[in-house]
Amino acid sequence: MARIIIIGGGIAGLGAAYKLRRAADAGHDVDFTLLERDDRIGGKIWTDTAEDPEGGVYVADGGSDSFLTDKTAVHRVARLLGVFDEETGTLEENKRTFIVKDGRLVEMPDGMMMFAPTRIVPLAASHLYSWPAKFRMLADVLIPRKERWDQGETAQQHDETLESLVVRRLGRECLDRLAEPLAAGVNGDLASEMSVAARYPMLLEMEQKHGSLVLGFLEQRRRVERMRKKYPPKPGAKRRTMFSSFNGGLQFICEKMADAVGRENIRTGVSATAIERAGVGWRVTLSDGEALEGDAVVLATEVWAAAGLCATVAPELAGSLETIPCSSCATALLAYDSGDCPPDLRWHGILTPSVERRPLTGVTLMSSKWPHRAPEGRVLFRGFLGGPRDEAVLERSDDELLALAHAQLAELVGVRPDARPRYKKLFRWEKGMPQYTLGHLDRVDGIERLQGALAGFALAGNAYRGVGVPNALESGENAVSKVLGDLGITLDEDDAEEKRVY
Ligand SMILES: Cc1cc2nc3c(=O)[nH]c(=O)nc-3n(C[C@H](O)[C@H](O)[C@H](O)COP(=O)(O)OP(=O)(O)OC[C@H]3O[C@@H](n4cnc5c(N)ncnc54)[C@H](O)[C@@H]3O)c2cc1C
Repeated sequence: MARIIIIGGGIAGLGAAYKLRRAADAGHDVDFTLLERDDRIGGKIWTDTAEDPEGGVYVADGGSDSFLTDKTAVHRVARLLGVFDEETGTLEENKRTFIVKDGRLVEMPDGMMMFAPTRIVPLAASHLYSWPAKFRMLADVLIPRKERWDQGETAQQHDETLESLVVRRLGRECLDRLAEPLAAGVNGDLASEMSVAARYPMLLEMEQKHGSLVLGFLEQRRRVERMRKKYPPKPGAKRRTMFSSFNGGLQFICEKMADAVGRENIRTGVSATAIERAGVGWRVTLSDGEALEGDAVVLATEVWAAAGLCATVAPELAGSLETIPCSSCATALLAYDSGDCPPDLRWHGILTPSVERRPLTGVTLMSSKWPHRAPEGRVLFRGFLGGPRDEAVLERSDDELLALAHAQLAELVGVRPDARPRYKKLFRWEKGMPQYTLGHLDRVDGIERLQGALAGFALAGNAYRGVGVPNALESGENAVSKVLGDLGITLDEDDAEEKRVY
């Protein structure tokens, strides 16, 4: 029997465990244990549910609240678990985003794709940019590409920071007003350091193909519109939105995966403190003094924790893992009576550019973005604090951060300054977001070469080839394929079967 030890119970570790469960159910002779340091599973996915004293329930996602629907891993697992019908899309009728400008909210102009304009009239009418900035953005169609790639070259060989790319093609104001807050708000990255090849390789590919980001996005918009016309939604079918979650919040899928894995195979509240070689296998020492032996280890912790655990057994690998930096942030979840909020709450989010010098990097209006996140007559907000722009703010206490988020909501959104929050909770994510800085993909290639040489060992998680929930889930599945392959077990048929399910 092959015995596998999984360290880390986030979506990557759960993805690994669920894949092993399916392998065991398919008749492979495998056994596994998942170890999770915290008392709960889910890692950066954490849905708090709380009752309002006057009735109804808050479903408050403190970490990730959604996944990109273009990536299939979460849907595939939801289908395998029989819970696909529990998936819920965003409320499209409220899909508006605002950007803070000079302390006020300015709506993102229609037709913006990421940060590039694809419609002239809304751009011209918008107060977000100055006139010189609007002309500078449109000049993108005239500026020649920086270089031509040789045959077979990819974005990785031509990596560039987001700041460099956006300033070069669309101008500084486009960076300051939209690209920078998007990078900080969505990825927790600094635009001055973010690797475009790792995060958004299609931007560099667009420049190659179209010689322009505006023309590239225009073509993408037209393609989407053509597809929508060709394949209109079937009557009664679920609406497909760009992001999805589950009716019970995102942690629902983690709990379902843990049920399917078998809770007896999951140990929470215990950390791995060391990994060593034990003959051809591995020994993992635990915080309670016990030691587990296995044929393989899947290391699905945050990258900095993985570096610490590898330090003795694979020092070169540990050194490479340490080159991936991580930023810290916190989310403040606050709910109010709708009478304490402004009347127009048909929007999803607010982004705060760094030039505005505000402690809140962004806001999501959870109860307008998703159905059933707050009781009738209540409004649930989520404010982001910290991140690489301003980690010092996180030195304040939980109460101070909640008060700060409340004050910012009063100033920006118009929540009554003396309103009493009906629900509040602060979630801290220390070193919770890996940053994909310039050259990230080269570093990950090196890490993969080093782990490839360690039989029965694989890394998984959000620090390598995608931070999104579907990427992390899939990384756990890939890690299982790697270690089972090392042990001479192939899951090809099983994989093919799973792919047919979605
Ligand atoms: C505030 C926030 C919002 C986000 N929003 C989104 C979003 O909307 N959409 C999206 O796709 N992504 C989002 N993300 C990113 C996404 O949630 C994460 O990338 C993903 O959930 C990470 O999963 P993981 O399993 O790789 O790591 P983690 O969830 O970090 O799991 C690692 C686990 O390992 C455990 N661990 C660490 N050390 C040990 C040890 N020694 N022994 C045992 N266990 C250990 C930890 O306790 C943790 O549970 C967000 C992230 C944050 C922080």
